Amino acid sequence: MTAELVAPMPVYASPYASSGTTLADHREALARRAAWRLEDAPPEIVIRWAARTFGHRFAVTSSLADAVLIDLVARAAPGTDLIFLDTGYHFPETLGMRDAVEATYRGRINVVTVTPDQTVAEQDAALGARLFSRDPDTCCFLRKVVPLGRALDGYDAWASGLRRDESPARAITPVVDWDARNQRVKLNPLARWTQADVDDYISSHDILLNTLVQDGFRSIGCAPCTRRVAPGEDDRAGRWSGTSKTECGLHLVGGPA
Ligand code: SF4
Repeated sequence: MTAELVAPMPVYASPYASSGTTLADHREALARRAAWRLEDAPPEIVIRWAARTFGHRFAVTSSLADAVLIDLVARAAPGTDLIFLDTGYHFPETLGMRDAVEATYRGRINVVTVTPDQTVAEQDAALGARLFSRDPDTCCFLRKVVPLGRALDGYDAWASGLRRDESPARAITPVVDWDARNQRVKLNPLARWTQADVDDYISSHDILLNTLVQDGFRSIGCAPCTRRVAPGEDDRAGRWSGTSKTECGLHLVGGPA
């Protein structure tokens, strides 16, 4: 099924005022239609649909473990914004990866760095040091969830690199989802890809890779909450290791699909 079958997004709010529906209602209906029409589509088709439907009101996010999704977006939807959440706790290698992406994809991907309301020092002064070890949910909320929500004010839809094979919690990730918290269309173009698909794309397209990956970090987040993964563990076993937490809260799977 191709993207042409999904109606493009009409230009903005006024049509909904008289019809009794809101822009969010329209976005959700769009997500529901696209969810079944694009479920089996390859990533390039999903990204092209997003670009044609939302134009510059479509953005992509990335953990910057690799630049696979970024490369696909640069090819299928050049000019798209990449939202980078700079939590203040990233590994130096991840910040270096952000800079490498910016240099490599200049003119095709616009890197938009988003920061929390408070620096780490300000948060430490207000809530005490090492909030990540005492209350990681609040730390993630303040340093990831709130900043992303604020950043998405400028967009109707956003994409992430979530894949079903990353962990049991992500096994039902739909290709197109409804992000109810942010009231945005959420795309997971790589949802059906496996690690082997990712590795193939990296080698065949000479894709940037975070050096931490070769050092045993198969899923990369903030430095205090990420460890290397041992053979046999799932990719995300090194995130918040030793706690029951498995997700930062940015990706709440379970919209329309
Ligand atoms: S991953 Fe850890 S350091 Fe980063 S925002 Fe969440 S709790 Fe805080």
